[in-house]
Amino acid sequence: MQNIVILTGAGISAESGLKTFRAEDGLWENHPVEEVATPEGFARDPDLVQRFYDDRRAQIRAAKPNAAHEALGRLDREWGGELLLVTQNIDDLHERGGAGRLLHMHGEALSAWCRACDARHSWERTLRDGPPCPACGAAALRPDIVWFGEMPYQMERIFSAIAQADLFVSIGTSGAVYPAAGFVQEAARVGAHTLELNLERSAGSGFFDETRLGPASALVPQWVEQVLAK
Ligand SMILES: [Zn+2]
Repeated sequence: MQNIVILTGAGISAESGLKTFRAEDGLWENHPVEEVATPEGFARDPDLVQRFYDDRRAQIRAAKPNAAHEALGRLDREWGGELLLVTQNIDDLHERGGAGRLLHMHGEALSAWCRACDARHSWERTLRDGPPCPACGAAALRPDIVWFGEMPYQMERIFSAIAQADLFVSIGTSGAVYPAAGFVQEAARVGAHTLELNLERSAGSGFFDETRLGPASALVPQWVEQVLAK
């Protein structure tokens, strides 16, 4: 076993107290997703959307990585083979848990993207008062988040890692929503073993060779221990 690709989702951040939108009612912290997570919502009410992500940044700064993040950081440090951690989460808890080989397919709350010059900047302050872009000076910064209707980041890199994978692991995500749902199918197609670690059986469970059910903070450290002991 050499090459591992890991996909993480909302379930791993939920145990650190961070919420994402709920598919059941389409709400994210009581806001309809069309309001706060679409380009149309931003065009309609930029002030509301900037305030929403200002709040997310504050929540993220107050949150701490949990045992699952820490275990994946350890795996990244100690695993000699290829490894790519793909997260759907917009927080920086994987980074703070020690993971380096990491990609944020849905963007990052702690990053601002300039629509005038395309530069991206680490960002911890408010975006609400229209601060100038540090690169070009335009007041054109928006949260560096992939909204509904926008293309996730680095899909080519993700699929090329999956094409080389021996093991594909999905953690804390239903695996039922595309494009992420396509990852397990592609991993299976190239002959990788596929493992799901999730709180409950998901609509995507049928795609996996193996499913383990429970909280990520318990399952992930156990699994990492197992992988590194081989
Ligand atoms: Zn700029």
